[in-house]
Amino acid sequence: MANATGILGNDSKPVKIHHLIKAPENTPESISFRESWDATKPVTVYKTPEVLPDGTICNAATVILRTKGCAWWWKSGCTFCGYFNDVRDDVSESDMFMQWEDAKEKTNGFEDCKMVKIYTSGTFFEDRENPISWQELVLRETSEMGKHLVIEAQAQMCTPEKIAWLAERHPGCTVAIGLEAYDDTVLRFHVNKGFSIKQWHKAVEMLRENNLRVKTYLLFKPPFMSEYDALKHTTSWLKEVAPHSDEVSVNPMNIQKNTIVDRLFRNREYRPPWLWSLVEMIVSAEEEISKHNCRVIVHPTAGGKPRGAHNCKECDAAVISAIDRYCISGQVDELKTLDCSCKTRWESELKNDQSLPIPLGTGPFRRGKPVDMMRAP
Ligand code: SF4
Ligand SMILES: [Zn+2]
Repeated sequence: MANATGILGNDSKPVKIHHLIKAPENTPESISFRESWDATKPVTVYKTPEVLPDGTICNAATVILRTKGCAWWWKSGCTFCGYFNDVRDDVSESDMFMQWEDAKEKTNGFEDCKMVKIYTSGTFFEDRENPISWQELVLRETSEMGKHLVIEAQAQMCTPEKIAWLAERHPGCTVAIGLEAYDDTVLRFHVNKGFSIKQWHKAVEMLRENNLRVKTYLLFKPPFMSEYDALKHTTSWLKEVAPHSDEVSVNPMNIQKNTIVDRLFRNREYRPPWLWSLVEMIVSAEEEISKHNCRVIVHPTAGGKPRGAHNCKECDAAVISAIDRYCISGQVDELKTLDCSCKTRWESELKNDQSLPIPLGTGPFRRGKPVDMMRAP
């Protein structure tokens, strides 16, 4: 049907969602924003308390570098990922060396830190993203300093040659893979992850064969999913990935600028998860998790804020602190005792999500006075 318009479209080539929604990467405004960053300085360097593989509590330095960014993002990209906001595609090899020097200077050579986490907004050992000479230097120096190193990677970038190369230069380091969901349909249609569960299993196998540690990230509440489904699915994903991981970090959605999730959020079609859902997930998965030698971390980035996991505002700080304490102690008893009047609203939302056919979920916005929200157009 030539020249048909409207819902059926016309004969022109379909436009990718990538170009419709996010793709501000090449607008003059976006380029000048990114180029305003100093390419010789890392995005940020900070220290936090952490737990070493043997259970000892230590300080960890986190270094987030300003890189060329994730190859997958430039091609397509995950629906929630806003890392591209921090990248510069013209970062040179010498910039990367200068950023690394700057990070060492700022931390006085990672003084009093037994762990160093290097985040490159992509895959650390992907040669299109980061110069090999720079990768080698970071691996060698952190190994010589005796630091436990944590780096990030996509599963499909883990090839036998590259993993063996990595293990030779920094034996025993941790490789964190953002699996997000243990479900191929969710990976494809909700997250647009770019790899499958099968590829993740293969990567895990390679890491194990080379005596490297496996850290798995899961995403709590991908877009196009109700609160109830997010709770049900992430709890089962957590139980399924724990036997294959040394550590699982569940990341509740936080809405980053210029992403697909941001577009949905601004259109009132997505709400970040309740903190109550995180508490429920931890408590109900605990028995299964305790059977494995796997540490579970839940870190609500932007927790208590409208763009991060939150409850009613009154109880946010107390619930977040209790979750933080659980991450260090692994004890769930305190979480079972938490309460607030907003908990019944969360429970009704879960019930409604199960009985009403609304795929995006039934929950109203949680902030603001209920009467005002009813009056809003
Ligand atoms: S693979 Fe990681 S860095 Fe790349 S788009 Fe997805 S979340 Fe972002
Ligand atoms: Zn509350």
